[in-house]
Amino acid sequence: MTEKERKGLDRVREIYQDRAHRAKELKAEGKQVMGYLCLYPVLEMLTAVDLAPYRILGDMEEPITKADACLPTVVCPFIRSALDLGLKGKYDFLDGVVMAHICDVGEKTSHIWRTYLNPSYFYFIDTPHTVHKAAQQQLKEQLKDFKKTLESFTGRELSLDKLKQAIKTYNRQRALVRELYDLRKPDPPLISGAETLQVMVALMSIPVDEGIDLLRQVISEVKEGKNGPPKKPARLLVWGSIIDNTALIRMIEELEANVVIDDTCVGSRAYFPNVELTDDPLDGLVYRYLVGLKCPRTFRESVFGETKKDYIKDLESRFGYIKDYAKEWNVNGVILQSVRYCDIHGYEVPGLRDYLDHIGLPNIYLEHDYSEAALAPLRTRAQAFLEVIG
Ligand code: SF4
Repeated sequence: MTEKERKGLDRVREIYQDRAHRAKELKAEGKQVMGYLCLYPVLEMLTAVDLAPYRILGDMEEPITKADACLPTVVCPFIRSALDLGLKGKYDFLDGVVMAHICDVGEKTSHIWRTYLNPSYFYFIDTPHTVHKAAQQQLKEQLKDFKKTLESFTGRELSLDKLKQAIKTYNRQRALVRELYDLRKPDPPLISGAETLQVMVALMSIPVDEGIDLLRQVISEVKEGKNGPPKKPARLLVWGSIIDNTALIRMIEELEANVVIDDTCVGSRAYFPNVELTDDPLDGLVYRYLVGLKCPRTFRESVFGETKKDYIKDLESRFGYIKDYAKEWNVNGVILQSVRYCDIHGYEVPGLRDYLDHIGLPNIYLEHDYSEAALAPLRTRAQAFLEVIG
C-alpha cells in the first residue's frame, strides 16, 4: 500500500494535528459538543442524549502563560496546560463540560474552570476512590443525578434503550481498539506506538460512530500495509500518567525499541475495559468506570482477598494485568513514566517496580515536566536502559 492510499491513517494525522476541527464542524451543524476531562465522565450517557463528547487534553507545545494565575506551579503540568488552553479560549467551542474527581488537583481545576469560564453546562462527578459496594452505590446515585441534569440541559430524554444502544456502540469501538492493539503483537509490530497514539487521540476528538469507521479503515490499512516499524531488539510496555503527544513515544522509538503496548489513559487504559450490559445499564456503567478502569487514582486493596499481609500477593492483585500484557505482547522491558507532581502515579512507582523486578522484567522510571524540551535528557537514560535489555 502506498502512502497515497493510507486514507484512514492520513485522516488520523489530520485530526491529531487539528483536534478541534471536526467538533467545530459538528457544532456548526447544530450538534452540542460536551468537553470532558480524564476517563471518569461516563461517555455513554453523553452519547445517549445526543451530545458529542470531546476530551479535554493539554498541549505540550504551548507555553503555560495564564494558568499560573489560578494554580500553583508545583502541580501537575498536564492539568496546568489543559486549564491554560481553557483560559486562552481554545475550548470556547464546547457547549458544556463534565469533570470528575481524578485527583485533588483535578478537582481544584474543575472548580476553577467552572468559576473562570462559566460554561453553559457544568457537572462534576465526585467519583469515589474505592471499589467497595457502598462506593459503587454512591457513584450510581450520582449518575442518576447526572442523567437528570443532562436531560434538563438538552431537553431530550436519556432513555434506557438509548443508553443500552450507546453502551453497545462504545463496546464495539473498544473491541476495534483491541484489534488494532493486536496488530502490535507480531515482531516487528505492524504499527508503531507513536502512530497508535495518534489514533487514540483522534478517537477522543470525534463522535464514537465516526471513530468506529475510522478504526475499521485504519485496521484494514495496517493489516495490508508495509509501512510498519522495523524489527528492533526492545519490545516495550510504557506505563504511567497521561501521554497525549507523540513526542515521548517517538523519542523512544527513534532508539532501538518498539513500544508495543501501553498502560496509559490515552491508550489501553481508556479502551480495554468493556461495559457489561446489565438490566439496569447504570450498574454495568458503574462497575466499568469504578472497578474496570485500572487507573491508580482508585484504591483497590482488600477486594481481591486477604492479601494485606503478603506484599507480593498484594502486588500481584494490583499489577497482575501488566504481567499478562507483557506476556501477550512479548515485552522485554518496561518504561514507567509520569509527569512531575503527579502523586497518583508517583506513589504507585515503588510497588510496581518491585513487582516488575519480582517477575524479571527490566524497568526504568522517567519523570518529565510535560514539555518537549524536557525529553532530551531522558533520551540518554532511555538509551542506557535499552543497552541493558538489548
Ligand atoms: S496526570 Fe496525575 S496529577 Fe495530573 S491530572 Fe492525571 S492523575 Fe492528576
